[in-house]
Amino acid sequence: MIPSTTEMFRALVSTPSVSCPDHQIDQSNIDVINLLANWLDDLGFDVVVKPLESNRQKANLLARKGSGDGGLVFAGHSDTVPCFESQWAVDPFALTEKDDRLYGLGTCDMKGFFPLALAACAAIDDKQLEKPLCVAATSDEETSMAGARELAAMEFPKADAAVIGEPTDLIPAYTHKGIALLRVIITGIAGHSSDPDAGVNAIDAMHQVIERLMAFRGELKSRYANDAFAVQYPTMNLGCLHAGDVPNRICAHAELQFDIRLLPTMNADVLIEEIQRQVVDISERTGAKIQVESTCPSIPPFETSTTGKLVQHLSNMTRHAPQGVAFGTEAPFYQALGMETVVFGPGSVNQAHQPDEYISLDRLKPTQTILENLIHTYCAKP
Ligand SMILES: [Zn+2]
Repeated sequence: MIPSTTEMFRALVSTPSVSCPDHQIDQSNIDVINLLANWLDDLGFDVVVKPLESNRQKANLLARKGSGDGGLVFAGHSDTVPCFESQWAVDPFALTEKDDRLYGLGTCDMKGFFPLALAACAAIDDKQLEKPLCVAATSDEETSMAGARELAAMEFPKADAAVIGEPTDLIPAYTHKGIALLRVIITGIAGHSSDPDAGVNAIDAMHQVIERLMAFRGELKSRYANDAFAVQYPTMNLGCLHAGDVPNRICAHAELQFDIRLLPTMNADVLIEEIQRQVVDISERTGAKIQVESTCPSIPPFETSTTGKLVQHLSNMTRHAPQGVAFGTEAPFYQALGMETVVFGPGSVNQAHQPDEYISLDRLKPTQTILENLIHTYCAKP
């Protein structure tokens, strides 16, 4: 049998698995995957630990009990964001129980989903299982989503439904925006600043590009709207700008990084093409080379029908209408495998990515009960 829920929380929190684009900070998630693999093995699941093609220090876990089509997947990520230990009142890598809360990095986002999912899996009698019950744990959700992308490419897991246990305060989330991280690189020609015609100034061209982007931002706002979100339109944030070196040289290089939060139905590649088309005349007029590209693969927007079986079932059990959430998740990758996918977890996003991250103890039992109910609905004999 498996350890108590609290002991599983303790083991997961005290096993660091920080994901970070900075290689100095980035850690392997394999020790966390191995903890889950051992517990799932003890529960009688067939467990596969699959190192990522793109990074052998990282792995996904796929566990399955039962055979045939259909069934249910409990899915989540095994990594966490980095933390600044000096800002924490408790040790982020040790479980601290106080004030009716469990504190520690990942308790809320979202290692803490796994002990509850596993406890729910342990509660069902194997003889009752008619359809497969699966648990998936990915790596690198907090950075590139490489784990979920590789799962989707493997076309596994497949089931009728998938629950992504990200922090939604136990309210079913049926939609979120996508995220495209983009940049414009402008290449001019350096020259002596005393003669403007001696070169091509990338900052001058960037000024025009920024004007064009801001106009495009207004256009996107009038073109799209979705009242599932607090900010109902697609946003564009101009986030960082680097150009030039000294005042008396014509600037030959400028780079602007920005993000666009995509509403469902929007596509990052289509937007990049559109922006590229919109700056052609600036390039022709100034003589600067203007390149628009992604800085990393985008997170697609996610939306599932509010009348689906899983979303309705969760809505009835929690007495909460399905809602949109403001953060991106792995949901679109699971949905792409043909499953009805809903984001639903016990933590609150207010504690995610924050010092002194915690989960309230009063969330644990209701979550486990709901997950058990889902197993009965999707996997058990009537
Ligand atoms: Zn998360």
